[in-house]
Amino acid sequence: MRRLRNVKIVATLGPASETYDMIRALHEAGADVFRLNMSHGSHDEIREKHRIIRQVEKDLNSPIAILADLQGPKLRVGVFANESEELEEGASFRLDLNPADGDAKRVCLPHPEIFEALEVGASLLVNDGKIRLKVTDCGPDFADCVVVAGGTISNRKGVNVPDVMLPLAALSEKDRDDLEFVCGLGVDWLALSFVQRPEDVNDARELAQGRAAILSKIEKPSAVERFDAILAASDGIMVARGDLGVELPVASVPPIQKRLVRKCRFAAKPVIVATQMLESMIESPMPTRAEVSDVSGAIYEGADAVMLSAESAAGQYPIEAVSTMNDVAVEVEQDATYRQVIEASRSAPRHSVADAIVAAAREVAETTPIKAICCFTESGTTALLTARERPRVPIIALTSLRGTARRLSLSWGTNCVIADDVHRFKIAVVAAARAATGGGFAGPDDQIVVTAGLPFNVPGTTNILRVAPCDERLIFNMENE
Ligand code: ATP
Ligand code: MG
Ligand code: MG
Repeated sequence: MRRLRNVKIVATLGPASETYDMIRALHEAGADVFRLNMSHGSHDEIREKHRIIRQVEKDLNSPIAILADLQGPKLRVGVFANESEELEEGASFRLDLNPADGDAKRVCLPHPEIFEALEVGASLLVNDGKIRLKVTDCGPDFADCVVVAGGTISNRKGVNVPDVMLPLAALSEKDRDDLEFVCGLGVDWLALSFVQRPEDVNDARELAQGRAAILSKIEKPSAVERFDAILAASDGIMVARGDLGVELPVASVPPIQKRLVRKCRFAAKPVIVATQMLESMIESPMPTRAEVSDVSGAIYEGADAVMLSAESAAGQYPIEAVSTMNDVAVEVEQDATYRQVIEASRSAPRHSVADAIVAAAREVAETTPIKAICCFTESGTTALLTARERPRVPIIALTSLRGTARRLSLSWGTNCVIADDVHRFKIAVVAAARAATGGGFAGPDDQIVVTAGLPFNVPGTTNILRVAPCDERLIFNMENE
């Protein structure tokens, strides 16, 4: 689906967005990637959403990435008899191991290890830190708390215990089970929550066995400290600001976000900025000015994607939230300052033929009126390197592999097209020209840049750059190749 922007939009699916009509409308409004949060919803619900996304993809002939977000060692409360309760400041509230539904006085926290580690005086932060509890008494199966900051607590809200070191493995039994389930369904990205070390990423990669790319969610202080090694082990990154802003002082989140986005861009790996981007749109059709500014800030920084969580999963205005992100992106990317910022922050090409080719393609786009950079890519690497250049014109990634096309849907500026296997360069140029004109990126009188590797179908060989016409008669008149 042709977009008028380069940054991508990730939309989380949930009860507010589970029908075919809604998911299709979200994709048409601008969602390029759908996130399935394994913390919420049964395997049957996940399977159904997955089926619908693939149906929409087929009906619209437009590759869509599915990102399955594994819960990781996240602590969550159980469920409430009335789905939610109001906690007033100063009230007392108990967390315990009793699996019965919660009420205004107590709820289950099904993690025995937390009660082992808790101490009187420790803070418990619920729902990305919106509710704050302080432990007044505790034992091996309960913690009595006083509500320091109140609010609405509801089913399965997350709990952070920043003052206490908890002995938790990176991939729980549930995560391994979920991973196998979603890899069996076929997802393009696996997001790992609460990654702390590169070994966590390697463990997941071993389990995934190439069935999905691995995206690390950065939401722990230790992940920020060891970011370079985690980035090297990962295929992509999410700046998961919800838990990050609870585990670290909230004021430290923006500088961390800026640093991480920049590092990912230099590493040619996609980075998502996530959480509370349009939070007020859960209940309001209009965002706040501050939210619009936050979304635009992430885009000016050069993030590959911006994400919606509860706004699209559980809010009242999922489509409006996607449209708002789309409108903000179009506006920012038309701003001359945006180009200046993006170009000023570009890194020098590294010393490889592929890097030199993609840098040259970007330069041709800057100095001539070509309409698109079309790159043939099987593993996706050439498209990632091209996206790293943040060129002035759209990138069209042509690949014979559906999985590559889907995975690249997360990357900045990349329009993915499934192309038949090509064995001759002239045929490749024709396919590129058709993709450019057919997708509305170029007209018959325009020119495009085509990059490819000869011989075809040998990974890692990008070694050709051709400025080509879109007119097929002119292509066939090109000297014999
Ligand atoms: P994470 O830390 O992985 O982001 P989260 O609990 O913050 O987990 P999000 O996916 O960010 O979850 O969504 C935000 C909120 O939207 C959730 O807390 C939940 O209330 C609601 N939500 C999301 N997906 C679902 C779902 N499938 N079913 C029910 N509620 C959902
Ligand atoms: Mg989180
Ligand atoms: Mg969240």
